[in-house]
Amino acid sequence: MSVTPTIVWFRQDLRLADNPALTRALAAGPIIPIYIAPTDSRRTTRHDGFHAGGASRWWLHHSLVALDRSLRDKGSRLLVRRGEPATVLRELAEQAGAASVHWNRRLEPAGIATDREVKQALRETGLAVQSFNGNYLHEPWNVLNKQAKPYKVFTPYWKALLAAGIDQDVLPEPERLEAVPGHIESETVDALDLLPTLGWADDFSDWWTPGESGAWDRFETFLDEVDRYHETRNRMDLDGTSRLSPHLHFGEISPRQVVARVRAEHPEALEEAGTEAFLREIGWREFAANLIYHFPQTERENLDARFDALPWENDPDVLAAWQRGQTGIPVVDAAMRALWATGWMHNRARMIVASFLTKNCLVDWRHGADWFMDTLVDADLPSNTAGWQWVAGSGADAAPYFRIFNPVLQGEKFDPEGSFIRHWVPELADLPDKALYAPWEAKPATLQDAGVTLGETYPEPVVDLKASRQRALDAFQQIKDDSH
Ligand code: FAD
Repeated sequence: MSVTPTIVWFRQDLRLADNPALTRALAAGPIIPIYIAPTDSRRTTRHDGFHAGGASRWWLHHSLVALDRSLRDKGSRLLVRRGEPATVLRELAEQAGAASVHWNRRLEPAGIATDREVKQALRETGLAVQSFNGNYLHEPWNVLNKQAKPYKVFTPYWKALLAAGIDQDVLPEPERLEAVPGHIESETVDALDLLPTLGWADDFSDWWTPGESGAWDRFETFLDEVDRYHETRNRMDLDGTSRLSPHLHFGEISPRQVVARVRAEHPEALEEAGTEAFLREIGWREFAANLIYHFPQTERENLDARFDALPWENDPDVLAAWQRGQTGIPVVDAAMRALWATGWMHNRARMIVASFLTKNCLVDWRHGADWFMDTLVDADLPSNTAGWQWVAGSGADAAPYFRIFNPVLQGEKFDPEGSFIRHWVPELADLPDKALYAPWEAKPATLQDAGVTLGETYPEPVVDLKASRQRALDAFQQIKDDSH
């Protein structure tokens, strides 16, 4: 057995269990674990595939601390360095006497480009490089249709993925690790300056525990409820979903582990309503990665080119009102304020606010997507891009352009007692249910009794829902007609 160590470059796989790059490296000898950050992590928002918005950076800080702790528990430690990955890895290989580097692959366009360059640069200096699939059930080039083309529609994609089979042999975490030699220096996670300077994210830790054990605690709690997932998953007022998205994004838990664990408890998981619906959502995560891999331009461009002609209004005041949760539409404001306070938003709420922004307000989906990337703890380029393009109507398997969510009806249906709105928009808390979802339609006396003065204590709607709906329909009809 070789005694030269292998460098394990951690990126979006911040875990010890079911980590193929780590396990395979350990089979060959000792390992040198490293995380590489950009030189200036505060100013760089995009760094080899990782879009480091403010909320993501908060998460990353805590996740790196947790990974270092886990490695130390096993006898090792996480090296943290800043710089260009190829340069950092070359220097480290020299210091550690390493002959090879392992990592788990990423699928974002910029991540792929960086990895390709790094691989070439390292091989040119005689280092061996091996990469693995640690972040998805299947990689996009393995799930193609009969013509060997990528799927653009979810259901056949998911069927094909299931038919290809899901590997259930999750890899165990290592029991002990060899110490990293003391002369190999590391920066501290604090020195990366990832935490926001303003107190914005201070309360995030009330909601989240980044890291591998936090991911498992969350998952185990959710598993007790998974039977009801199909009934509760759309309710914004309930804790009916797993909230695993940031843990999955940072790779603190792998989708393979998720599927294997669900199936261990529910051998007929694909036949039972709750577990089937949950696994299908894991499938949407795979589908989003499939889309960004095969259609990398969709990070910024409409997949459906007809949408290039859409006359977006892009009113900056409307965008700002949306970002601050001051649109005057209670369910939209509740969702946007929840996002700001917790770094997360319910999927139903994401669809509502995205539909409102792109359709009622005619603001280009890219503005919404950028805001999400900056404020979500689960900011994930593939899922975010697919989500926004789907809602805007420009994406794969997209919602038809004429499906414009009515935020009043959506609120009534998916927050039926109004507790989600009342929690996040407390200035409306005393309104009766009837007036809560559309206060601009309430009688003056009702508003007065609840201490609400529209335009003063709570905004008037930034757009008229009915008129803006029609404006959007006309705009969408226009681009459809023009394309014939
Ligand atoms: P659960 O319902 O418990 O689902 C389990 C897991 O499946 C999630 O953790 C997630 O990894 C995956 N998943 C669920 N729904 C989707 C979906 N529609 N697309 C892709 N994966 C899904 N998800 C992100 O992880 N990051 C994003 O940046 C992101 N941006 C979005 C933007 C818009 C406009 C929309 C409509 C959706 C977006 N989503 C994004 C997808 C989805 O809203 C979140 O994954 C989900 O709300 C996370 O909550 P959960 O973990 O409780 O999900």
